[in-house]
Amino acid sequence: MEKFDVIIVGAGTAGCIAAKTIAESGLKVGIVEKNKRENIGEKICGDALGEHHLTFLGLEKPNGGELEAKIDGMKIYSPDENTIFTVADNDFKGYILNRHLFGQWLLKKATDKGAQLLDSTNFRTPIIEKNAVVGISAKNMITNENVELRSKVVIDATGFFGMVRKQLPDVLGIDQEIDNEDVEACYREIRQLKQESENTKYCEIYLNQKASPGGYIWIFPKGGARVNVGIGALMRKSGYPNPKEQLYETAFKKPMFNGSQILTGGSWFDPVRRPLDNMVSNGVVIIGDAASLVNPIHGGGIGPSMLSGHFAGKQIIEALSKGEPTKEALWGYNKQYIDTYGKKQGTLDIFKLFLLSCSDDDLNYGMNQKLMTEDDVLKAGMGDEFKLNITETAKRVFRGIRRIGFLNKLHLTVSTMKELRAHYNTYPATPVGFEAWRDQTVDIIAQAKKKLVE
Ligand SMILES: Cc1cc2nc3c(=O)[nH]c(=O)nc-3n(C[C@H](O)[C@H](O)[C@H](O)COP(=O)(O)OP(=O)(O)OC[C@H]3O[C@@H](n4cnc5c(N)ncnc54)[C@H](O)[C@@H]3O)c2cc1C
Repeated sequence: MEKFDVIIVGAGTAGCIAAKTIAESGLKVGIVEKNKRENIGEKICGDALGEHHLTFLGLEKPNGGELEAKIDGMKIYSPDENTIFTVADNDFKGYILNRHLFGQWLLKKATDKGAQLLDSTNFRTPIIEKNAVVGISAKNMITNENVELRSKVVIDATGFFGMVRKQLPDVLGIDQEIDNEDVEACYREIRQLKQESENTKYCEIYLNQKASPGGYIWIFPKGGARVNVGIGALMRKSGYPNPKEQLYETAFKKPMFNGSQILTGGSWFDPVRRPLDNMVSNGVVIIGDAASLVNPIHGGGIGPSMLSGHFAGKQIIEALSKGEPTKEALWGYNKQYIDTYGKKQGTLDIFKLFLLSCSDDDLNYGMNQKLMTEDDVLKAGMGDEFKLNITETAKRVFRGIRRIGFLNKLHLTVSTMKELRAHYNTYPATPVGFEAWRDQTVDIIAQAKKKLVE
């Protein structure tokens, strides 16, 4: 039976960065991936990546076709398309990726550092002994052989379905399930247009509460006459529209798509909520989409997934250098992710509820009359507090006198985001005190949900 220091299940963006980080330290790393090596990287995605994520991780810009288009920012359209917010801050500059080539580039970084890839290998179950994860069982899909692999730490990097996470016993203290109400059902196509679109520099986002409640429709330029076009809708218990049908009823009715050709299309899921409150236990760490590490407003998860792989990797190296990889020894990963990106994600969960509470009319009016401004969106997107000073508030009240409900909801949203941000600043440095912290988190979000959308 093969033994590793660390087994990483899933060779997506999260898994590859974790593998690279850990293998660099000389530890023995195995990456278990169900796809064939040559298909790694393929993913139904909007393909947009902020440049700052590469910079933060110290990754150079790849130059072998991985970056298909350079993006200067976002244009956000009101549902009636009469108001357009242009958000072009540095944080919104970036690239549209060739996802397959980018995935292969990351994989090579991991294997170049010595990580061993076990591709065409389907993870089945974690092996748990004495309340610790000590390995996995998997099936080689070429030989049909069942294999057992042992390791000191197993990382769940399997993406949205969190295949390891789902099978962990309660005693390990990691949530197994993500509520569907926090998940967007998405449909996306890559289209070849008849001619290059006029917009080649901005990611376009169309708000439309009927077609994509809690989400949006996007058209992203991919270079030349190709675009990445898609839609996401929150899977609310009260029902939600069929994403593919809605995309055909909305975006594809635009003249730019006349005579266009589908290059590829498909559906997938995006978990848009706060991060898992706890992502570690004895011998196990959860990263990327498996830990719900996606921005709840724009659905971007490539950057956070890589960030989590990096932080998790560093923490595992430290834990193993000192002794056993217990929950206590791995806890620093929770703290570092929450302090760096998680608190922003958490507070944006509240902004997501605000957007969900708005009708198309509210959004048209609110954006047109500047009750909500580009600056608010920018600050919300960057996770900054947006404070409304008295003059600004008064001006907005005056402009919004016909929509006082909208302004009240915006104020409730701003104050709850502030409260939640302060609460995230008290995330415990060790597992002690975590239960109370988590109860309060759940309570703040439940209260906001009740007031805004129920
Ligand atoms: C439609 C859509 C549009 C999006 N647009 C954007 C965007 O524009 N920008 C952005 O930043 N983010 C976007 N996201 C989110 C982004 O795609 C994810 O956050 C990111 O890919 C997460 O990476 P990951 O490594 O955690 O998971 P994944 O990329 O899903 O990788 C998981 C890996 O695990 C493997 N795996 C799964 N199960 C098993 C198993 N049983 N055994 C072995 N291997 C297994 C998979 O094959 C895969 O290789 C979008 C998501 C969707 C659905």
